[in-house]
Amino acid sequence: MSTASPFAPMPDQHGFFGPYGGQLVPPHLKQAMDDITQAYAEITRQTEFQQELASLYADYVGRPSPIFHAARLSTQLGGAQIHLKREDLNHTGAHKINHCLGEALLARFMGKKKVIAETGAGQHGVALATACALVGIPCEIHMGQVDIEKEHPNVTKMRILGTRLVAVTRGAATLKEAVDSAFEEYLDNPTDYFYAIGSVVGPHPFPMMVRDFQSIVGREAREQFLARHGRLPDYAAACVGGGSNAIGLFTAFLEDSEVKLVGVEPAGEGTDQAGRHAATLTMGHPGEIHGMKCYVLEDAPGTPAAVHSIASGLDYPGVGPQHSYLKDIGRVQYEAVTDQECLDAFMTLSRTEGIIPALESAHAVAWALRAAPALPASQHILVNLSGRGDKDADYVSKVLGL
Ligand SMILES: *Cc1c(COP(=O)(O)O)cnc(C)c1O
Repeated sequence: MSTASPFAPMPDQHGFFGPYGGQLVPPHLKQAMDDITQAYAEITRQTEFQQELASLYADYVGRPSPIFHAARLSTQLGGAQIHLKREDLNHTGAHKINHCLGEALLARFMGKKKVIAETGAGQHGVALATACALVGIPCEIHMGQVDIEKEHPNVTKMRILGTRLVAVTRGAATLKEAVDSAFEEYLDNPTDYFYAIGSVVGPHPFPMMVRDFQSIVGREAREQFLARHGRLPDYAAACVGGGSNAIGLFTAFLEDSEVKLVGVEPAGEGTDQAGRHAATLTMGHPGEIHGMKCYVLEDAPGTPAAVHSIASGLDYPGVGPQHSYLKDIGRVQYEAVTDQECLDAFMTLSRTEGIIPALESAHAVAWALRAAPALPASQHILVNLSGRGDKDADYVSKVLGL
């Protein structure tokens, strides 16, 4: 049986993108992953599934999300035209709902009794809780006690949405401990539970599946851009944490060699400050983490480095295997922008266009601000605005003393 997705030729049937990806998991988990791969291949061939997902994207998420020409910003910079793919306008405020809906529908199709995940700042938790409420499947989110106290609005939303919230108090009580806790619960019964990974990371089939669900972003954007301008953009840029919003945008353009693709990583306090950035592709090297081969930031072989970004959705010491491959073959150029550049872009976009971006998305905007002035006004940069900044407004105003 072919396990390749109907949407794209990669990965191969073992889940490899060149040397990256795969399923580095113990045998009983390999069986669970193979079951998901097979169910995914089945469900994506069904017309009813395709129609259900398409109508949820339209009527529930509010797709297609528009492309907005940031004309004032472009004029002010005096170079290339900047356009924003408005994933921030989606229901729940970011791109994550695109794959959470797909994962919830797949879990229901497989007859799973519970969907489990961890969350750091709570963005994945809220998107998944939303999708599970809609699909009608129990949802359990593991979250560090420290994060629970920091991220109150998201915790409240998850509770309202009917999610069982598990407070993790061991160790530092943040994301890493939440991952361990959620994973232990999943290992207890991988047959009845579905572990919903929140980006294009982890063992096969997750990097493929999450990519496919996100690829709606690039398919829409390509069509919208062509319809309006009669040509494709010169650049398509997106921020990269695990890499789901970026691969969602890039996939539609991979074969358009005239479109330069740019992934923007968090340089935090500077890529020369060990432990104070999360620029995995820029500074890391090939290794293994969370059941896959990919670029990693490590202190020693097998020991993930401490990472930091002002945008909590970007601070991950690994990265999606397909991004690792796209870097090696040179199809995507990966750049890094600092916390300071991110904050500047956050304020500039807010005050020039009246759009408050998520701090994650502000990284992609920051790269555009850096690149546009050196390019002619006839060139076009398409930026994926992966989410809105409501969640970051209080923090930024505190940091900047507004
Ligand atoms: C979670 C998140 C990201 C980072 O995740 P990717 O998988 O790299 O896309 C980026 N932007 C927003 C708004 C997010 O919530």
